[in-house]
Amino acid sequence: MDTTIVLNGCAVVTVDGRRTEHDSGHIIIEGGRIGAVAAGPAPAGLPGARYVDATGCLATPGLVNTHHHLYQWATRGLAVDSTLFGWLTELYPVWGRIDAEVVFAAARGGLAWLATTGCTTTTDHHYVFPRGGGDVLAAEIGAAREVGLRFHPTRGSMDLGQSHGGLPPDNVVEDIDEILAATEAAIDTHHDPSPGSMLRIGVAPCSPFTVTEELLTQAAALARRKGVRLHTHLAETMDEDTYCREHFGGSPVDYMDGLGWLGPDVWLAHAVHLDDAALAKVAATGTGVAHCPSSNARLGSGIARARDMRDAGVPVGLGVDGAASNEACSLIEEVRHALLFARARGGPTELTVRDALEMGTMGGARVLGREDEIGSLEAGKLADIALWRLDTLAHIDIRDPVAALVLGAPPPLELLLVQGGPVVEHGRLVTADEDEVATAAGAANRRLLNLAGVTS
Ligand SMILES: [Zn+2]
Repeated sequence: MDTTIVLNGCAVVTVDGRRTEHDSGHIIIEGGRIGAVAAGPAPAGLPGARYVDATGCLATPGLVNTHHHLYQWATRGLAVDSTLFGWLTELYPVWGRIDAEVVFAAARGGLAWLATTGCTTTTDHHYVFPRGGGDVLAAEIGAAREVGLRFHPTRGSMDLGQSHGGLPPDNVVEDIDEILAATEAAIDTHHDPSPGSMLRIGVAPCSPFTVTEELLTQAAALARRKGVRLHTHLAETMDEDTYCREHFGGSPVDYMDGLGWLGPDVWLAHAVHLDDAALAKVAATGTGVAHCPSSNARLGSGIARARDMRDAGVPVGLGVDGAASNEACSLIEEVRHALLFARARGGPTELTVRDALEMGTMGGARVLGREDEIGSLEAGKLADIALWRLDTLAHIDIRDPVAALVLGAPPPLELLLVQGGPVVEHGRLVTADEDEVATAAGAANRRLLNLAGVTS
């Protein structure tokens, strides 16, 4: 994107190391990167520039989503009153019927919606690969390319079916050799390690109760040989904690530590149930955490110790988690929920509004190892920027713009830039026809539920 864009007259919250903020400032974007961020009006007459009158708006770094399952956009609103294990048991047979067509439509819907909630970079954890379902990973990569978000999908997997003591039915698990070969092929085909990359692949066996010890060990070795990141679910519920103690004789963190699954190249989804010893291990190894407050509350799993993890130096980002356990999937709402739930859990000084915004931006960038490129508004970084409108009825009289963004209702999204290119303008997706995306997502949902025989 070579066009110069100038955002002029907005409040700017940079989320840089000094937490620099401007009540009224400007941002100059050139060649997909941030050229300048400063107080006051922008210089006039930059040749060929598109000047955006951003008066009444707040510019923040684009939000970074560190955990998702995009295919679940096609299975929202099922098992709405279940525990995690009950919810999984009801949904596995439905997920076992997905194919590339369903995943493309679901991912496109989920990505388009994420964009309208301020997200510029998202991960995805895809671990269901039904036999004969086509190339579902390529399908979601195609969807991300169309919507225009920076994408870190992970090639997930499950190899521990019910007949071997796991939770998923046998028909949704794969053979370990197939998994490892397909994962390596996905890295070779899609992973782009270059600076400014729009697409990086990770390796992500699903969870301790759906994969074998052998797969975890081999997957870690593969990821390290290829130089890509590792991701999994961990310590989400007390059911899982009990499962690990019964099967492996220790906490989920002890188990993963023993398999070489802690380190600065690993990030864990949830980490709700960490005792002090587990938290210290996660911190000492530089392991990152995707904190998913809405999903954890929706499933009644508990709330992670976000403040304690941050104090211990753990990189903590935010995640919406899959749409089947967070039908809203709004990343800006995760910022708000992270703050509210932390205070409900630990008291009024647990997190500040700026801490919450930092988790949604720089925290996520650190979790993905991209803190040098995204997560803050600084000259030289990639131009991934959210511009929020704060001068309407919902926010106009909230004096502190960060408080307006974090504590107020989700503001209208005036503009969302990824690598300097507009993805959302005036609250609407501009990279694809939002109405057509919605219609296709609805059709995919109906087709999938028909295939799976869900009638209610
Ligand atoms: Zn998840």
